[in-house]
Amino acid sequence: VGEISAGQLAGLVAGRHFPLCMSVMYERLASEHHLKHWGLQQFSLFLKSIGLPLEQALLFFRQQFAPRTPGDKFNKEYAYNVRYNYGQEGKRQDWSEWSCVKIINQEVGGACAGAGECNGGCPYKTYSAEQLRAALSRLNCNDKVIREVVDKARGKHYQLACGLAFEGITGSPQETGINKPSEYYASSIELAT
Ligand code: SF4
Repeated sequence: VGEISAGQLAGLVAGRHFPLCMSVMYERLASEHHLKHWGLQQFSLFLKSIGLPLEQALLFFRQQFAPRTPGDKFNKEYAYNVRYNYGQEGKRQDWSEWSCVKIINQEVGGACAGAGECNGGCPYKTYSAEQLRAALSRLNCNDKVIREVVDKARGKHYQLACGLAFEGITGSPQETGINKPSEYYASSIELAT
């Protein structure tokens, strides 16, 4: 997976290459012009892992947070977190994206299940069956597969549900299993190229 730019993100979402946790976060960010703290952490580390460089990440979030958060306020209150995730602040550690297990166990998230700003999380865990059906239909997931995904999610097999959704959306099985959101993305990009 190579480097990507902020300008490519909308196309990647429209191309259905993001797992559900990240596509709903992208949409909610676009409509609310804000993410709560853990949502921003989860999403920016994912974008880093799929090849978005720091400067492009700052550009993207600054644009998305506007006009609700003016650029100077963004620079003061949010840029630090993004720079931190890229190892440019604080401990200067090269942080990795959150694993699915970490996202699933994220207590304060809700994966945009409620209205308003999003705070991260896995929709296969936090969405109602109805919300899940609606979200997957919007991604043109095959109807029969949607029923299987909802069953898996009800049985608390969230990562298996995500893998099945991949198959229902792309028409091809995801063979390796999904342990990190970037694995979903990489498999989807591989199919498309
Ligand atoms: Fe995201 Fe992982 Fe949940 Fe899939 S299983 S939606 S990649 S957290």
